[in-house]
Amino acid sequence: MIFTKDSTFLNLVRGEREHENYGVTHTIKHVFVDEKEKNLLLGCYKFDCRVCGNTKLRRVLSLGYQPLANNLLKTKDEKCELYPLEVNYCDNCFNCQLSVAVDPKKMFNNYLYTSSTSKTFRNHFINAANKYIKELKLKAKKSYIIDVGSNDGIALKPFKDLGFKNILGIEPAKNLSKLANKNKIKTYNGFLTKKNIKKIKKNADLILASNVFAHSDNLKEMAQCMLNLLSKKGTIIIEVQYLLRTLKDLTFDNIYHEHYNYWSLTSLNNFFKQFDAKIYKAEEVNTHGGSIRVFIKKGKNIKVEGSVKKILIDEEKYGIKKFKTYQDFGKKVYDIRKNVIKKINDIKKRGDKIIGYGSPAKATTALNFFGISDELEFVIEDNKLKQGKFIPGVKIPIQDKSKIQDNNNTMLVLAWNFFKEIKSKNSHLSKKIINIKDLEK
Ligand SMILES: [Zn+2]
Repeated sequence: MIFTKDSTFLNLVRGEREHENYGVTHTIKHVFVDEKEKNLLLGCYKFDCRVCGNTKLRRVLSLGYQPLANNLLKTKDEKCELYPLEVNYCDNCFNCQLSVAVDPKKMFNNYLYTSSTSKTFRNHFINAANKYIKELKLKAKKSYIIDVGSNDGIALKPFKDLGFKNILGIEPAKNLSKLANKNKIKTYNGFLTKKNIKKIKKNADLILASNVFAHSDNLKEMAQCMLNLLSKKGTIIIEVQYLLRTLKDLTFDNIYHEHYNYWSLTSLNNFFKQFDAKIYKAEEVNTHGGSIRVFIKKGKNIKVEGSVKKILIDEEKYGIKKFKTYQDFGKKVYDIRKNVIKKINDIKKRGDKIIGYGSPAKATTALNFFGISDELEFVIEDNKLKQGKFIPGVKIPIQDKSKIQDNNNTMLVLAWNFFKEIKSKNSHLSKKIINIKDLEK
């Protein structure tokens, strides 16, 4: 057996504990985890499955210690907290969740991501509103619509434009709720909690929760609150990042601390079984690199449409209930890192300047996981709230387009879900625009 200089020897001999010098001369204390880190981990570690309470969870993937993805730095030297970014899997109900649950106030009180920045996204919600009005027979004068995690009001604006008066956003970020109210979209500033719903008008005909149903440790409370606010015949529509797509497309960069949970229809269905409610319809949508949209009504005797059964079968066929599926995913993600680092180095060897485009949360995850930092000159961002700041961890400056002096650069699109939109608008700024996803293979 070979021992290296930093090998650690542990004295596990039982009898030694009886020795009067135990812990003094016979067993030397060795610190694996320092006090600060121990407290941080104990303060937020999630031991039990959020859906079923199982405590025997299995590790799928570790992306290392990472900063909170959307907490951009104001200065390059600003300190930021790092937390483990790891996904665990539950054998019992097939739920995936992060190993830690970070205090939401650290992430959502001041939120720089404004949904309406993207035209693709605005159109998505215009189409969604028209579809719901038609399918659920909503009436401009009568129907009451709530949007949970309403951001700057993007999902409610199309309803407002169509004459709906009775709309309400619920948004924890002060800056965003202020912005929405300024734009005449009535918005309650706060989290959706049992305490806060006392201040909110009940009997909603439609409750929307888009890209928010993974954004809380306490999703049971969130679901219960939505059901309490819903009228007897009302509908809840949840749109959330879809685990099956993440597994299939290897979009590991959709993993960050704001996303506490990773849903398949299988696990969502298991989750809603504990309430007096049912998922009666499901469909895939394109947002955020692949999401699933589920329709829920109160009661157990709701007729379930064929779409639910079809997706459940597809998920099972893919292996959503087999741990091996998740292990394979983990292995492929580590291969991606190797490939990207090699290709970035190849570009640098050619002497090309690389400029990033977009600073979404997924870019923080990917760049920190890859360990790519000085390789990028800076990152361009259209969202004015983000300009002048730095991507946490890797500390890459975020700039306005005017910072680009000539087109002699390779532009690496980090906001890959808007690749087409970005490429068509910016071809004059770069001789070569590439999608970061294309470096992964
Ligand atoms: Zn579980």
